[in-house]
Amino acid sequence: MAQQHLTRLAHSLAQTVTIYTSANEALTNELERKVERDEWCPINSRPILRLTPTSGIAVLVEMEDGTSVEQGFLVHMCKDSQNFGFEHNLNLELAATDSESKISLPFNEVTGQGVFAAGDAGSMMKSGMLAQGSGSVTAVGVATNMVCDEKAV
Ligand SMILES: Cc1cc2nc3c(=O)[nH]c(=O)nc-3n(C[C@H](O)[C@H](O)[C@H](O)COP(=O)(O)OP(=O)(O)OC[C@H]3O[C@@H](n4cnc5c(N)ncnc54)[C@H](O)[C@@H]3O)c2cc1C
Repeated sequence: MAQQHLTRLAHSLAQTVTIYTSANEALTNELERKVERDEWCPINSRPILRLTPTSGIAVLVEMEDGTSVEQGFLVHMCKDSQNFGFEHNLNLELAATDSESKISLPFNEVTGQGVFAAGDAGSMMKSGMLAQGSGSVTAVGVATNMVCDEKAV
């Protein structure tokens, strides 16, 4: 679960990491089970009114009940979306996750033949290392595709 993964990464940078679930009861119950042994990880399930930036990197978390807490920094998962605004759209299709192109493995070819999506553009897991690896594999696919095209002429 991404929340738990991010929380443990953030724990490398802070002694205490508070998870805010903003009144999402199902998520709170699930996370409570996952972090029950981690005293450094309290869960705050009260509804959040707003997050306000401060003059530094700290963020002010204001709750609907009128209370507020200043936190040293905020960790959250980015919401990804694809820009498919190309001419003719290259026949790109969205994957079921909604955040990258639908690809076929192993060479990351998209739904249009001869078109490839390497790195974040074709991967659900957005990471520098994975993007590099996927770029290498895609390069093999591109080279193979070009050779096949030449031989077919
Ligand atoms: C805040 C943040 C922190 C991160 N921290 C880490 C980390 O600690 N470790 C880690 O492994 N990963 C991290 N990542 C993820 C990592 O940055 C990405 O997974 C990686 O950069 C993906 O590489 P990429 O080459 O696929 O895409 P990108 O690095 O996004 O490169 C795509 C390039 O294409 C360009 N582009 C887009 N559209 C067009 C167009 N139409 N025409 C021409 N150019 C275009 C963009 O400007 C960009 O330069 C982080 C990401 C973010 C946002």
